[in-house]
Amino acid sequence: MIQKLRIGVLLLLHVLIFLHIFVFEDDIVGSIDFQEFFHAFIKHGILNAGAILVIIAFMTTLIFGRFFCGWACHFGAIQEFSWWILKKLNINPITINSKLVTILPIILLLNYYFIPNIIYAFNNPWELNIKLNEPDIWEFLPGWLIGILTFFIDGFLLVYFLGRKGFCRFLCPWGAFLKFPNSMSMFKVRKVDTCTYCHECTKICPVGIDVSYEINKFDKVVNTNCTSCLLCTSGCPSQSLSYKFKNPMYEKYSLGYYLKKPTKHHENIKHQFKSIRNKDSILLIFCLLFSISIDGLYGIGHFMSFGIGLLSAYFLFTLKYSTMQFKIFANSIVIIFFLWHGTIKYSIWQGIKNYENKQFDSGIINLERATKLYPKKISKFHLMLGDMYYLKGNSEKALEHAMIAHSINPSYSAPIEIINRLNK
Ligand code: SF4
Ligand code: SF4
Repeated sequence: MIQKLRIGVLLLLHVLIFLHIFVFEDDIVGSIDFQEFFHAFIKHGILNAGAILVIIAFMTTLIFGRFFCGWACHFGAIQEFSWWILKKLNINPITINSKLVTILPIILLLNYYFIPNIIYAFNNPWELNIKLNEPDIWEFLPGWLIGILTFFIDGFLLVYFLGRKGFCRFLCPWGAFLKFPNSMSMFKVRKVDTCTYCHECTKICPVGIDVSYEINKFDKVVNTNCTSCLLCTSGCPSQSLSYKFKNPMYEKYSLGYYLKKPTKHHENIKHQFKSIRNKDSILLIFCLLFSISIDGLYGIGHFMSFGIGLLSAYFLFTLKYSTMQFKIFANSIVIIFFLWHGTIKYSIWQGIKNYENKQFDSGIINLERATKLYPKKISKFHLMLGDMYYLKGNSEKALEHAMIAHSINPSYSAPIEIINRLNK
C-alpha cells in the first residue's frame, strides 16, 4: 500500500513538472531547481521557488529524513524506472560498494555550488529579494539532446553498472546537502521487534544500505543515504521494522554510526554487493580528471560530465575484458578521448585568460589550438582570435576569423565590427 502511494506521488510529480513547463510556464513561478538555492539565494540573495524548495527540503529532512529523495525527486524516479525495466529484462545489477559514494557528491556540492557562491557573496554583499518567477524555466536547463543523454547516462547507465540509484549514491550533490540534516532526523527506520536475519530488508533497499546489519547493530538505520522510501519496513516479513519518531533529546548519536561499516556482507546477501574500495583512490583521481576535461564542452553540464567521467574510470580500472588485446584497445580509446578533450579545455581556459590579460601571442597559440581540436565551432573563440590578429596587425587572419565568427552566428554584431574596421 505504502509503495503504491509512493509510486503515485512520483507519477503525480511528473504530471506537475509537465504542467509547470508546458501549461503554466514561468508567469508566476520560475525554475524550481535545487541549484537556485546556491546560484540565486546564496550568491545574490534572491529567494525564488528553487531556493524555497531547498529550504523546505532541508527543514523537513530534519524531521522526516531524506524522504524528498525517495518520494519527490524526478531523477530518483527515473532511476527506479530504469531499475524496473532491467528487472523485467531479468537483469540484476549489483550494488557497487565504494567510498566514492561519500566523497564524489561532496566534491560536486562544494566545488560547483557552495564554495564559489559563498566566496562571491562575501565579496558582493547582498540584500534579500523575493522573485518567484525568476529565472526562466529553461535558463539553466541543457538543450534536448544533452538533456536526454544526461538522463540516459545518469538515470540508466549508472544504474546498470553501479547499481540501483547509482546516480543518487555516487554523484548527487543535493543528496550530499541533505545528508547532514538526515543524520539528525527525528523519524527513522527503527527496529521494533525480533529480527530473524532473513536479510529481506537489505535485499530490497534501493540505495544499497545493509539494513539488517544497521538495525541489529544500532537499532535503527543510521546511513545518511537512507531516502525514507520505506521499502524495508513494508518488505520485512517479521514486521520488525517501523518508521518511527524519537524525541531528539533521547536519541543516541555516535560517530561509530559512520565509521563502523560492515567490512563483509552476510553470506545470504554478499552476491548483491561488489566492493571496489581497494581502487577508490585511483578511481577518484581519474574520475575527476576525465569529468573536468569534458565539463562544459558541447554544452555538457556537471551531472553528465561526472556521469561519463565516473563510468569511464570504472571501465578503465575495474571491468574485466575477454582478451588483453581488447582491453588495451578499449582503454587506449578512453585515454585518447579524454587527453584530446583535456587539451581543448586547457587551451580554451588559457586562451581566454591570455586574451583578457592582453598576452596576444600566447592567446593566439592557445585559441588556434582549441579551435582546431574542438569539433564544435564556437563564434566567441573566432571573434577573440580575429580581435587579437587585428591588434597584432595581421589583417588577413583577422578577417578570416571574423568571417568564421560571423558565419557561425550571423546575428552577432561584434564580428561585423571587426570586418568594418578592416575595410576602413
Ligand atoms: S533503509 Fe529502508 S527506508 Fe531507507 S532507503 Fe533503504 S529501504 Fe528505503
Ligand atoms: S527483513 Fe526484517 S527480519 Fe529480515 S533481516 Fe530485515 S529486519 Fe530482520
